[in-house]
Amino acid sequence: MRMLIFGPPGSGKGTYASRLMSILSVPHISTGDLVREEIKRGSEVGIVAKQYVERGELVPDKIIIDLLTERLQKPDAERGFILDGFPRTINQAMFLEENFKIDLVINLVVPDEVIIQRLSNRLICKRCGAIYNRLTLPPKVDEICDICGGELYQREDDRPEVIKARLKVYRENTEPLINYYRERGLLRDVYCNDLMTPPDIIVRKILEIIEEIKSEK
Ligand code: ADP
Ligand code: ZN
Repeated sequence: MRMLIFGPPGSGKGTYASRLMSILSVPHISTGDLVREEIKRGSEVGIVAKQYVERGELVPDKIIIDLLTERLQKPDAERGFILDGFPRTINQAMFLEENFKIDLVINLVVPDEVIIQRLSNRLICKRCGAIYNRLTLPPKVDEICDICGGELYQREDDRPEVIKARLKVYRENTEPLINYYRERGLLRDVYCNDLMTPPDIIVRKILEIIEEIKSEK
């Protein structure tokens, strides 16, 4: 299964994708995570990327495509993948089309106020990257990861000004891609109108779509 997940920042795509990864046994690959790893390592690419990420802007295509190409060459991606945060430009979509056959594109449809509430309450584990939310998915112990005991932090770009910039960038650059995949008959909408909908409900909806697609083949 080669699958893409689209959704505005804060649509929960990282959370759903990592759950789908365990169920489907294919890696969840987030280009945002790939970029953040480079920034953390302080690599040459990371230093350049950091300036864009901090402003809520897109990192140049070449950097992203190089990072992703390297990741997709690892053996675990042979069985398939769940791509999260890619493609974000038509250029990136062309790269995919030239190299892989995509089976399904999930489009998470989420209202703005749900996004802003969710992002301003999002917490991430410094050590293992697990995602929590003060309102919807709180850790058992305040500010501490349930899984590894690591310290939880708020992402620098989850501040309200940056959230608004990221939403604008998403609408402008990424929504044309939704049409691109809709025209190819690959896109399925999944609605998440309520902040309190448990992630498992959305994951189940996505799994039902996957089953439908498999039975159509
Ligand atoms: P979000 O929650 O905003 O979807 P991500 O973790 O997917 O966050 O990405 C964080 C940042 O990394 C983005 O704001 C952007 O600067 C950069 N980035 C991630 N994926 C891409 C991509 N496919 N193309 C360009 N920039 C990207
Ligand atoms: Zn952790």
